[in-house]
Amino acid sequence: MLRTLIREARLEKGLSQRQVAEQLGVSRTLIALWESGRLEPQMKYYKRLSEALGLSLSDLTEEIEEDNTLMVSYSMLSTFKRCRNKFKYRYIDKLEPKEKPIAPSKGSAIHAGLEHYFSNNYDKMGAIKIAEEKFKAALEDYPFPIEDEILNEIEETKNIISRWITYFEREMGGYFRSPDEKVVAVEKHFKYPLAKDIVFHGYFDLVINVPNEGLWIIDHKTTKHLDNLFDNLDLDEQMDYYLWVANKLFRKPVVGIIYNGISTKVPSKPKILKNGGISKAKIVTDYQTYYNTLVENGLNPKDYKEILDNLKQINPFFKVEMSFRTETEIENIGRDLAASIKEIILAKEHNLFTRTRSTGRCIWDCAYKNLCIAEYKGEDVTDLINEFFIKKEEKK
Ligand code: SF4
Repeated sequence: MLRTLIREARLEKGLSQRQVAEQLGVSRTLIALWESGRLEPQMKYYKRLSEALGLSLSDLTEEIEEDNTLMVSYSMLSTFKRCRNKFKYRYIDKLEPKEKPIAPSKGSAIHAGLEHYFSNNYDKMGAIKIAEEKFKAALEDYPFPIEDEILNEIEETKNIISRWITYFEREMGGYFRSPDEKVVAVEKHFKYPLAKDIVFHGYFDLVINVPNEGLWIIDHKTTKHLDNLFDNLDLDEQMDYYLWVANKLFRKPVVGIIYNGISTKVPSKPKILKNGGISKAKIVTDYQTYYNTLVENGLNPKDYKEILDNLKQINPFFKVEMSFRTETEIENIGRDLAASIKEIILAKEHNLFTRTRSTGRCIWDCAYKNLCIAEYKGEDVTDLINEFFIKKEEKK
């Protein structure tokens, strides 16, 4: 709890409430109110308070109470920007569609595996197991019959994690595995107060410290189309915001973002011909898969040296890119974030949640479509809500 943290950090530093108050330029009573929990520090005091108590801003903000606070995630912000009406249904009214079949995703299972790997001393076997368990847990909530195709995805997920770790451990020099680089945080939940009762929050996949440089945020990006992913990194709004927050929260400078691109496709095995040779047809594969197929079929890898050497040079399944932001960019990002938050505050104050009114941007994927249309026509939507939605708090 924030109040306990403030009190304990103050006592540990041997400071009286008056001394902390003097450092912050506030009254002693205010410090006493914070420590009793009757009042929460205003946003403007966080930085000075963290300095006075010898804490990082991140230590302090972690303790922010979430009750009575609007916790704004990036996905909330982007929903607000796309359609304020959808934002209201989802985050203010807290309506969740009852039928929301979520197909298990390789991406979240891979994330879970990597989280385990980096938090548990590079435990490869554990990472594969955790990814498998995560995928299977998602299947428990899947409302449709489980087809073979989905079951294959479990094996593919394990294969991807295993290959990525091999790639990471053998091939990636520097940036997140040189002996001097240290993992600072894994799946770190951050909170940053942006206005009264509004906190921006999210997760840093991984944060590393590189000597003589500073901190880097690592973002694991799982995707089918690795090439498209790296086309517009300078316009990645989510990571822009995360970078801006990281620069506020950590005591060291945050240099930029390292995108850890992981393809969710698996390498194809080369086809074995009737004459026992190997097909020259073009396939997307990697060194290990090609090599293993040769050995499994009694072929001598030395006879395929040229192909294997080429495959050693390129790995179409994993890609790492670094992305920087200038100081001006970071300032502009902060301004953009503050402006979006102001719009959310205004919309809440005036209960003004306008519709996107663009069929191209909403109709095809909006789970609130029927509700939205009925409500706009002025119909009584009580039955519709009861039948098709559930209030988040009521979820069992
Ligand atoms: S159907 Fe379209 S306009 Fe209506 S809430 Fe959904 S996204 Fe917004």
